Amino acid sequence: MKYKNVIRGTMALILICILFQQCSQTNDNTYQSLMNFAEGIKVINTHEHQHWPEENGDLTYRLIHLINSSYLMSDIVSAGGQKMDWGRLDTITLLEYWKVNGEALDYSRSTSYYSHFIKGFQKLYDFDDPYFMESNFRHLSSQVEENYIDYRKWFDSAFRKAGFELMFLDQYWKPFNTEVVEPYYALVFHINPLVMQSSNRPEAEEELQGIYEKAREDGFTYSTLDEYLKYCDHLFTKNIEKNAVCVKNSMAYSRSQYFEDVPYEVASKLYAKPSASLSADEARKIQDFLFHWIIQKSIESDLPIQIHTGYLAGNGNTLDNGKPVKLNNLFLKYPDAKFVLFHGGYPWTGEYAALGKMFPNVFLDLVWLPQISREEAVHALDEMFDCVPYNKFFWGGDCSFIEESTGSLEFGRDVVVEVLAKRVKRGLLTNEVAFDMIQRIFRENAIEVFQLEERLGRDF
Ligand SMILES: [Zn+2]
Repeated sequence: MKYKNVIRGTMALILICILFQQCSQTNDNTYQSLMNFAEGIKVINTHEHQHWPEENGDLTYRLIHLINSSYLMSDIVSAGGQKMDWGRLDTITLLEYWKVNGEALDYSRSTSYYSHFIKGFQKLYDFDDPYFMESNFRHLSSQVEENYIDYRKWFDSAFRKAGFELMFLDQYWKPFNTEVVEPYYALVFHINPLVMQSSNRPEAEEELQGIYEKAREDGFTYSTLDEYLKYCDHLFTKNIEKNAVCVKNSMAYSRSQYFEDVPYEVASKLYAKPSASLSADEARKIQDFLFHWIIQKSIESDLPIQIHTGYLAGNGNTLDNGKPVKLNNLFLKYPDAKFVLFHGGYPWTGEYAALGKMFPNVFLDLVWLPQISREEAVHALDEMFDCVPYNKFFWGGDCSFIEESTGSLEFGRDVVVEVLAKRVKRGLLTNEVAFDMIQRIFRENAIEVFQLEERLGRDF
């Protein structure tokens, strides 16, 4: 009797093991088949800040230059390391750099900033190690140095290997430049200076900067709000002529994303006052008016408006500025505008999803969310798929160099596929719908909503 029980118990155990193995194989197969599909898609990346290396000066690029330009740098600083200026980076030895930042780099090994960044090197370079180490730093760095001798050639091959077809380029560091290199990039009209500088009109004797310097160069005046708007109108026309695919607002880095509906008469009177005499509230009112004006112009031109929400890059800012719900009044007032909210609104991901669910004119761009926190991206995206129809999602990278964008895409695909595989496994989705969702998030939604074929005059 006892013997029979042992046999029964053993057989039951074997059966459980077989079932478990079959089950986990199905999971792995589901994940893998969705991933294979995702890797075959030519990605439309809706947000990047790619730089050409020479834009930072005449530097010899090494691994430490890329770390310095990456999000990982903020974790290094957060862990007690040092961000160095380009001059010091160009002269410091790798060993000295490791002495300064090696420990902070090691403490960052668990973060998504770290792991997505290293994924770019695992994809593009002859590099399989799980971490940056003193022992592999030199070799990897010499490969970077070699690739950056002819960055255009390196960029082209990496761009293709990563799986990109097009990147939307937000040149916040030179917002009046309307030239982008085709076929890699599509122009984004970065409107921060139009709004932020509207409350900072220079007096006759002051040195001109930013939009005022540019207005003077282009033969425009700006003594009244009407004149200022005329120049903003000119910038709109110029960007549209250069095939801009959207407008971008990242003003959460400098102010609250609540924009009051200020009447023209009020804004016009405030603009006429010397800017130095404006109270903070008066200055904000002029800016608020300007952003409303920009939304109206965007509706006329049918340009979607990308808006930064949530977490702010770097190591110190006012987190509350980008709380997604602060934009609610705009979604109600402008049903004909297309608003694209960025970054999952992290850490307010639920609030962000709710806005995408409620408003037909609010779209959700997952850009940067997987890099801030991979696990929060998985959790939040699962919730978003419960709430929001999948023709409303996009994906973007948000990086300065091709290595980090590549790592972002590797991370983005992994997050989306993990969430979908889990849903397929639970019987919540068929494989076919999961394939369609991948295709739409990484490509088709962007082509449709940003009207890429019409705007760029090419087939996708
Ligand atoms: Zn960005």
